Amino acid sequence: MTHDASAQLLEPLRLAIYRHFADTGRAPTREVLQLELAVGPDDLEAAMVSLAASRLVVLDGDGSIVMAHPFASVSFGFSVMGATTLYWGGCAWDAFAIPHLVPHEPRVLIATTCPACERALAWVVGTDEPPAGSELVRFATPAARAWDDVVATCQQQRIFCSQACIDEWTAARSEPEGTVFDLSTLWRLARGWYAGRLDANYQRREPAEAAEYFAAAGVPSSFWS
Ligand SMILES: [Zn+2]
Ligand SMILES: [Zn+2]
Repeated sequence: MTHDASAQLLEPLRLAIYRHFADTGRAPTREVLQLELAVGPDDLEAAMVSLAASRLVVLDGDGSIVMAHPFASVSFGFSVMGATTLYWGGCAWDAFAIPHLVPHEPRVLIATTCPACERALAWVVGTDEPPAGSELVRFATPAARAWDDVVATCQQQRIFCSQACIDEWTAARSEPEGTVFDLSTLWRLARGWYAGRLDANYQRREPAEAAEYFAAAGVPSSFWS
């Protein structure tokens, strides 16, 4: 396949992966993608590597799809249960984004545990208004460094019971506080961030370029400035 032909496969491949995740909650296999896109394994792998380089999918060492934000194929601590589909959310932000992104699941049960005390936490999250709750969100990594190790970044975007649990967690690891905000802010952050991801010709929004969006959502500037 020529370079141009491989480039032309990128957007159909991206769409196939995202729509499979949206429809089923799972990553598509290579066999499914080869059939759907009518391509051979070598061309598929070349396109997959390009897609990962463009930060539209995250692959592990074996080439398996770990994430296609906001979807994940493994646990990042958040289950997202819709009426017919069960998802892994890629972090607190990603989990809250799924009901806004997937038209057939506008209302979901998001469940997690507090990293510090392991208390079970759950909210029904819809598209009309933020869920009630006094829990706090902590992002350990600023937006500008999110893609240095995006799996680690997402693993550390969690929801805690309280400031006391965040303090206990960070003190035990000698970590800085990071950025802490409430559930309403998380909901506003998640609401429009991935808009368009299930549609053709999507342009990825770079966190580093998105200060205006973060400010409008009310996310503290320690995350994005
Ligand atoms: Zn706790
Ligand atoms: Zn994430």
